[in-house]
Amino acid sequence: MTMLRIRLPTFPLAAFAALRRAPRQAAALLLAIVLWLGASGAAPAASELGRLPPTPLGLHMASLVEAAGPLTLDEARARLAAGEFTTGTTEVLRFGIGSAPVWLHLPLRNTESVPAERRLSIESSWLDRIDIHVLHGDREIVRRSVGDAIPGSLPEPGLGYVTDLVLPPGDSDLIVRIATPDTLVVPLRLLDRAQGESFQRQQDFTYAALYGFLLALIGYNAMLWFGLRERSFLDYTLYVGSFLLLNLCYSGNGYIWLWPGNTLVQKYCIPVMMVISGCFGLRFADGFLGLREHAPAAHRFVNRLIAAGLAIQAVCVLLLRQQDAVHFGFVFILAFSLVMVGLGLITVRNGRIAGRYYLAAALTAMVAIAVTALAAWFGLPHSQLTFHAAGWGIAAEGILLALALAYRMREHQRARLQAEQLARIDPLTGLFNRRAFLENALPVWSTALRGGRPLAVIALDIDHFKAINDSHGHDAGDRVITTIARLLKDSSRSGDIVARWGGEEFIVLLPETDGERAAALAERLRKDIARLDFRAGQGPNAITASFGVAARDGHESLDDLICAADHRLYAAKAGGRNRVELFSGAAG
Ligand code: GH3
Ligand code: MG
Ligand code: MG
Repeated sequence: MTMLRIRLPTFPLAAFAALRRAPRQAAALLLAIVLWLGASGAAPAASELGRLPPTPLGLHMASLVEAAGPLTLDEARARLAAGEFTTGTTEVLRFGIGSAPVWLHLPLRNTESVPAERRLSIESSWLDRIDIHVLHGDREIVRRSVGDAIPGSLPEPGLGYVTDLVLPPGDSDLIVRIATPDTLVVPLRLLDRAQGESFQRQQDFTYAALYGFLLALIGYNAMLWFGLRERSFLDYTLYVGSFLLLNLCYSGNGYIWLWPGNTLVQKYCIPVMMVISGCFGLRFADGFLGLREHAPAAHRFVNRLIAAGLAIQAVCVLLLRQQDAVHFGFVFILAFSLVMVGLGLITVRNGRIAGRYYLAAALTAMVAIAVTALAAWFGLPHSQLTFHAAGWGIAAEGILLALALAYRMREHQRARLQAEQLARIDPLTGLFNRRAFLENALPVWSTALRGGRPLAVIALDIDHFKAINDSHGHDAGDRVITTIARLLKDSSRSGDIVARWGGEEFIVLLPETDGERAAALAERLRKDIARLDFRAGQGPNAITASFGVAARDGHESLDDLICAADHRLYAAKAGGRNRVELFSGAAG
C-alpha cells in the first residue's frame, strides 16, 4: 500500500509503457491499477513499525485542517473515520503561515509480541502547541503536550520536540494536533533507538560544524577589525553574528541554551532576527561596496530599506502581531537577498573588481537563504538539505567575502603605492623630484664614502628662462623643460640619478665619476642644449644653460656636495651664463 502510494505519479505511465511492450503483463498491471484505485478510497493501512524510514513521515500520514473551530479528540476521530483526512503527499507536511490548527493521523502496527519503544520527534522548534495522543483500540494510552507556548516544554538540541512512546503489540493510532500562528511545518519522525542515535549524531555534527565555522568567521573578522579598524570587518562580524543568532532562533537551540522558558522572546525572535540580520547584511554591503561614494542613490535606498524594515517589524512586535511579524520577516529576508545581489550587479557594472567577488558571495547566500525561507514557507520541499541551506550558504559566503575583503585590501595597498610613487615623481618631466633624489642619492653617497670611490654632482639651470616664458608662453616654456629633461635622461648612465630640483633647475648625481670627468660631461650637455632648436614648437631658437659641478672629495655630506655644486652654478651665472664651473677646493 505504502509503495503504491509513493509511486502514484509514475504508475499509470508505467502501465501505458508496459501495454505497448507486453500485453499479458499489461493486463496484470491494469488489474493492479483497479485494485489500487479501489484501495485508495479506504482508510489507510497501518505502517509496520519495523518498516518505517528514519525520514519524516508525511507520506504515511493523513491530515485535517481545523477549518471551522476547534475539534475535540473524539470529533477529530469521527472525521477520520468519515474519511475526511487527506493523505500526505510530501515527507514534510506544510500548511503555511497562520494556518488553522491541524490534526494528523499516523496508523501504526507493532508486529512484535512485546511493546516497542519509539521516539517521536518534530524538528520545528517554533511550533506553539503540539498535542500528542496514542490510541490503542479505543483506549488512549498516551496524552502529552509540548511546544514553545507550553511552560516547561523545551525542544532537544537539533531534534526539536521529542516524546518517547511505548507502543503495545498490535495496531495503534498516533493522533497529533498542532497549533501555531507562524509557519506550520511538520518534520515528524518516529525513530527506534538506533535511528534516534544516528539522527542525533547527524544533527549534532551538522550544528557543531556550522556553529564552529560561523564562530571562527566572527572571531577572525572581529580581530581584523580590532587590528585594522576598517568598518567593513565590523559590519561583517555583526552580519554573521546576527545570522548565527537567527539560526539559534529557528533551530530552537537559542530557546534551549539562551532564553529557556521565555516564551515571549521565543515567539518573536525568528521574525525579528530575520529583519535584523538582513539589515546588518545591507549595512555591510553599503560600506563594502562604497555605495556612498560610488552609487549615492543605491546608498540612500539601502538606508531607507533598513529604516523601514526595522520600523515595520518594531510596530508588529509592539502591537503583538506575531503572524504579521512572521510574514514580514519572510518578505524582508527574500527582498534583502535580491537587493544584495542587485547591489553587486550595480558595482560590477560600475567596473569595480572587488564587486565581482562580492557578487559571487551575495549570489551564493541569496540562493541559500531563499531556499531555506521557501522550504519553511512555501514553494520548495522541506528537507535536511533545504532546511540547513541558509547556514551553509552563509558559511560559503563568508569564504568568498574573505576573498573579496582581501582583494579590496590589495586594491588599497596598490593605490597607496601608486600615491607614494606619484609623490616621488615630477609630473611634468617624469624625473625624480627633489625628495626622491635625496632618498636615492643618500645610499649612493654612503657607499662611495665607505669605499673611497669618486662621486660627482652636476647642477644646471636654464638661462633667462623667465624671458622664454614671457615671450613664447608658458606652454613653450614647459616644452623646453621636458626636452632638456629627456636629454639629461638620455645622456645618463644606468647608475646616474637625474632629478628636477625645482623650476628650471636640474641635478645629476654621477657615481664612479671624478670632478674632471663630470665637468667634461657637463660641457657636452651644455653644447647639446645649445644646439636644441625649439622653433618648430613656437619656441625660442636658442637655449642655453649654466652648470655647476662638484666632486665628493673634501665634502662632509651629500648636502655639502650639492651646496658646492649650487655655488658653482651661481658662479657660472655670474660669469656670463652658458658655461660650466667646476668646484676645486681653492675656488670654493
Ligand atoms: P637665470 O638665467 O638667472 O636663471 O634667469 P631665469 O629667468 O632662468 O631665472 P628665474 O629663476 O628668475 O626664473 C625662473 C622662471 O621659471 C620663473 C618661473 O615662472 C619659471 N618656471 C618655474 N617652473 C616652471 C614650469 O614648470 N614651467 C614653466 N613654463 N615655467 C616655469
Ligand atoms: Mg634660469
Ligand atoms: Mg632658476
